[in-house]
Amino acid sequence: MKFELPALPYGYDALEPFVDKETMEIHHTKHHQTYVTKLNEALEKYPELQTKTVDELLMDLENIPEDIRTAVRNHGGGHANHSMFWTVMASPKAGGGGEPGGELMKALNASFGDFPKFKDSFSKSATGIFGSGWAWLALSEPRESKGSKLVITTTPNQDSPLSKHETPLLCLDVWEHAYYLKHQNRRAEYIEAWWNVVNWKEAERRLEQ
Ligand code: MN
Repeated sequence: MKFELPALPYGYDALEPFVDKETMEIHHTKHHQTYVTKLNEALEKYPELQTKTVDELLMDLENIPEDIRTAVRNHGGGHANHSMFWTVMASPKAGGGGEPGGELMKALNASFGDFPKFKDSFSKSATGIFGSGWAWLALSEPRESKGSKLVITTTPNQDSPLSKHETPLLCLDVWEHAYYLKHQNRRAEYIEAWWNVVNWKEAERRLEQ
């Protein structure tokens, strides 16, 4: 079984004007595709690993054979992170942007004071990542554990919070390839625009799960 590039749940232009069509198309068909291809190459001589999900591989990096561990971390992470990233965005016409509801809103209020404070804190973390990486809203524990707290966390490169035994609810790609065409070096401007396409329904679903 080979990993495959998942289809986007919307058209390349669906997130306009906040995330532009050309960036989405290159990001999905070139960047994400390359992570998938290289992950498959890395796993070629380990058929027993090809039956696992990418999340399972990332949660158990310590047990990945050493000769492919870095490749799985980078390309498996790239595949998992982007697969999630597409689903936590939605066209404003399809409900993207705005504020979360229900349990997630309550949890954000409890953890960060209120929603604007959460947004501000998340944006600052994302803006402050040195070089390439990701900002996350996550639960501090694996899915099956009790006593999780909501945390804002960042990872360098394509590292996944799953490898730190956290459970991701929302993610933001701050690699330059995610915004350079439209925003050039203005990462903070990209982040500000991105809030308009956040798919809170998906983050809520992940919290419930
Ligand atoms: Mn990316």
